[in-house]
Amino acid sequence: MHETRRRLAAEREQALARLASLTGDYDSVVAASLDTNADDEHDPEGATIAFERSQIGALVRQVRHHLTEIDAALERLEAGSYGACERCGSAIGDARLEALPAARTCIRCASVRG
Ligand SMILES: [Zn+2]
Repeated sequence: MHETRRRLAAEREQALARLASLTGDYDSVVAASLDTNADDEHDPEGATIAFERSQIGALVRQVRHHLTEIDAALERLEAGSYGACERCGSAIGDARLEALPAARTCIRCASVRG
């Protein structure tokens, strides 16, 4: 249980660091697009900036989603339901939890869904 908490905390740290570096990039990309007052349709540079902005935006959303999954896993840990599959109720398994500490489902249910 202690090991799991440590693992989730480490995962959370990594996600936060990634978010910080992404939003740092994101802010500079947005600032650059404001500076040039770019017209996305006619200025090729403007189109590039818009593309980068949407790419980073998608990554930021992914990392934020991962953070909410980690927080949900920490709540399950507090509640004592961590490690049980949300779909079938069986144990998720140590190997899977080691690779994906925030996993909600066992590998069987995950592969059915995917
Ligand atoms: Zn399952």
